[in-house]
Amino acid sequence: MFEKAVLLLGGNKGDRFTLLKAAVEAISRLGELTLSSGIYETEAWGGVAKGPFLNQMVEIKTTCSPFELLGFIQQIETDLGRKRDEHWGDRTMDIDIIYFGERVIDSPALQVPHPFLAERKFVLVPLAEILPDLTHPIIGKTNRQMLIECQDRSEVRVWEC
Ligand code: ADP
Ligand code: MG
Repeated sequence: MFEKAVLLLGGNKGDRFTLLKAAVEAISRLGELTLSSGIYETEAWGGVAKGPFLNQMVEIKTTCSPFELLGFIQQIETDLGRKRDEHWGDRTMDIDIIYFGERVIDSPALQVPHPFLAERKFVLVPLAEILPDLTHPIIGKTNRQMLIECQDRSEVRVWEC
């Protein structure tokens, strides 16, 4: 059975554009790449990371289970030079599962939909670009509506390479 997973990719260390391209390429091997957003340059969030991130949202149609997908994306992060001690800090590549179909998963290793998505403009802007009418299975609002209501004022701008 196929399901659609929505993934946010981002990094603020090294050659950000090349790393993003490599991550999309690696993800496209996990299924069929069905949607991808533009690339956004976004202000570091949470106070630990310093430099701005490049972020991109993609959707893939995959036969992987959510936990299999988590394992694969963590392997891609490692392959692209990610060190696991970079939580919240500067990192070459972070890949988060934003949605997995309409599933709600709440385990220590995996929470889906991503718990903070409605509070972060760097998630909602690319999400509303590719899937404006998709409804959050817990909040009950579309991505477009959550973006309109989001209080996050950090900067998210289209990135020109
Ligand atoms: P963050 O993405 O929160 O900045 P990390 O990338 O270091 O930090 O992730 C820390 C842990 O978050 C991972 O080891 C993973 O098990 C867990 N995690 C929970 N939910 C998700 C999700 N939806 N997508 C990716 N990782 C998740
Ligand atoms: Mg992560």
